[in-house]
Amino acid sequence: MRKVVVIKGDGIGKEVIPEAVRVIRQVTDKLEWIPAHMGLECNAIYGWYLPPRTIELVHESDAVLFGAITTPIADPNYRSPLLFLRRELDLYANVRPAKKLLPNIGVGDLDMVLVRENTEGMYTGIEREEGDAIILERKVSEKACRRIVRYAISLSKRRGLKRIHCVHKANVIRRSDGLFRRVFFEEMEGSGLEAREMLVDAAAAALITKPKEFQCIVTLNLYGDILSDEAAALVGGLGFTPCGNIGERHAVFEPCHGSAPDIAGKGMANPTATILSGTMMLRHLGLCQEAERIEGALKRAYLDGVSTPDAGGHYSTVAFTDEVVRRLDA
Ligand code: ATP
Repeated sequence: MRKVVVIKGDGIGKEVIPEAVRVIRQVTDKLEWIPAHMGLECNAIYGWYLPPRTIELVHESDAVLFGAITTPIADPNYRSPLLFLRRELDLYANVRPAKKLLPNIGVGDLDMVLVRENTEGMYTGIEREEGDAIILERKVSEKACRRIVRYAISLSKRRGLKRIHCVHKANVIRRSDGLFRRVFFEEMEGSGLEAREMLVDAAAAALITKPKEFQCIVTLNLYGDILSDEAAALVGGLGFTPCGNIGERHAVFEPCHGSAPDIAGKGMANPTATILSGTMMLRHLGLCQEAERIEGALKRAYLDGVSTPDAGGHYSTVAFTDEVVRRLDA
């Protein structure tokens, strides 16, 4: 049995995670589900945003399925438990597929995967004051560049892709982005894949004007954060986009959206992004046919006009999932 730690978190995380688990349980009994806690509500109950027991369970797991957590606005000492987990587990690759599920969902004709370096870049969190300025430390190491590019290459080969775009801003940020660019071309040498590069501003435009250009983008942390949200918006919005945070030993799968306090508790959240995060997790665990079964059922549900309010429908989170489950064997 592979161990999956399930963390619902806050807000709509508590609504979409049980539905994704319900769908996955219909297609496999090879997973052991272990509930754990994290987030704002967890802090109110247990006094920890990320309890030590959760860290222990996550360390022992084969994968984590995570919903969303709410960031407290009023706590100046708050440090994101999710960022902590990414560091603790060394989840160096953030993987976001951006693919239109069906022609009538979203506006961009994308079918690509974005691989984002997840541990360095602008997100070191190290800031200091110097006179009247705040200086942010931006780190780009050769080791991190090499392993993210290698990850993108192996993922592209697994998926039968033909080319990878390295997205950077080395014309201005010459040394650090230049390092990333150099490592990219070194690693791509002899890979059998076509190596392309694009400046990040050009890539932001090309995602809209030439979406078919892209099969895989490998990029640094901040660029990846922004471009992946753009890609998500193009393929239908936050309700549709899954995400995986992958390390050598551990992996955390989550929808790209947050806890959406504006709709939490109303039973109207779209569980698609979480269900698709679940199918990414199944593939990661080698359960590819099971993942395909779920994705087929999801597509059939949408084709039959089943959708939640964010996608123009009237189905509740639970009723939508019922319809997906009903189509698993169709
Ligand atoms: P947080 O502070 O936790 O990041 P947020 O509301 O700022 O929450 P998101 O949760 O990402 O950010 O939500 C942004 C918008 O998208 C909200 O208006 C929300 O209602 C909508 N949204 C996000 N996820 C979903 C979903 N699964 N289904 C429907 N609407 C969603």
